[in-house]
Amino acid sequence: MTQAKAFSVDSATSPFKPTSIPRRSPTERDVQIEILYCGICHSDLHTARDEWHDVMPTVYPCVPGHEIIGRVTAVGSNVSTFKVGDTVGVGCMVDSDHDCPTCQAGLEQCCPNAVFTYNAPDAHGTAPVTYGGYSDSIVVDERFVLNIPANLDLAATAPLLCAGITTYSPLKRGDVGPGRKVGIVGLGGLGHMGVKIAKAMGAHVVVFTTSPSKKEDALRLGADEVVLSKNQDEMDAHAGTFNFILDCVSADHDINAYLSLLTNDGELSLVGAPEKPLQVSAFALLFGRKKLSGSLIGGIAETQEMLDFCGEHNITADVEVIPIQQLNEAYERLAKSDVKYRFSIDMNSLKAS
Ligand code: NAP
Ligand code: ZN
Repeated sequence: MTQAKAFSVDSATSPFKPTSIPRRSPTERDVQIEILYCGICHSDLHTARDEWHDVMPTVYPCVPGHEIIGRVTAVGSNVSTFKVGDTVGVGCMVDSDHDCPTCQAGLEQCCPNAVFTYNAPDAHGTAPVTYGGYSDSIVVDERFVLNIPANLDLAATAPLLCAGITTYSPLKRGDVGPGRKVGIVGLGGLGHMGVKIAKAMGAHVVVFTTSPSKKEDALRLGADEVVLSKNQDEMDAHAGTFNFILDCVSADHDINAYLSLLTNDGELSLVGAPEKPLQVSAFALLFGRKKLSGSLIGGIAETQEMLDFCGEHNITADVEVIPIQQLNEAYERLAKSDVKYRFSIDMNSLKAS
């Protein structure tokens, strides 16, 4: 066991502070990683503030972070796919059953025994729960470690490990491509990746935002059109025209307004995970036989496929790189939808804490 530097919160209302956490010594299948960058996902904020208490109560102290880029510093005796010095990624999961039917189908994220990167019971018993990437190192089973395309900027690649796969997976399943009209709701970390990926897949992409100040950015990021969702006339102009809409909103909002924008048999897929249940009008689904679905990150093979796709298309996140000492300020801004468009923590700054 070694001690790693990290930043943690002690309660739903505490600020982040420097701390020291245990990390296990690599077992034979483990990869030990020095963390270089870690993105800040809104799920980190939901968890740190215990906003998902009814579904996944937060165990404190909590060390979030599941958009991890790092360099391999040691490997276990049976590790075959990575070597010391490799640049690697770790996303939202660090383990699962491996051989249950769900894992066999490549859906480790849906495995009943999936182990999430933070706030999940730690099967190794190193600590009560797993600790995430707001830290200088992590030890992960090699089957949950990803290869990073050599051409991508590392700080800007970290967010692909959650925001990238969470948008890629439903867009791909939704048959997004040429000739399809696709909506992306909420221009935050997930939403801006959704725009870039849907555009690279060849779709006609429309962004829905509550923030007039993000209109120009949405077009720069690749959107064909931008709709201010608070403007009813702008919304009505698109009624019944979307094949697929990806909802990336982190807070309560009216999803029936988006169901009315779908074509017959069109699909609204939720990836945003607001604290409170959303209201759905049955009639908004019945008329036009519309589909409402959800999506959870993606499996490991699909995450590698997404990274390779982003490598080929030169896609990374637009990031604001921050030292870890600015974590509390970053959370305040994230809560106000004031990020362009993902914070990425430069973990070199942790050496100073
Ligand atoms: P984010 O960067 O904060 O973006 C969320 C965006 O939602 C904001 O930028 C804002 O966009 C919009 N929004 C915020 N409050 C709103 C409100 N009251 N009404 C309407 N729109 C509002 O968050 P993120 O990191 O992209 O994460 C988004 C959500 O996805 C979170 O709930 C997160 O937990 C969840 N998530 C799910 C998965 C999964 O596997 N399903 C994975 C990762 C994250 P505009 O300013 O453009 O309106
Ligand atoms: Zn995330």
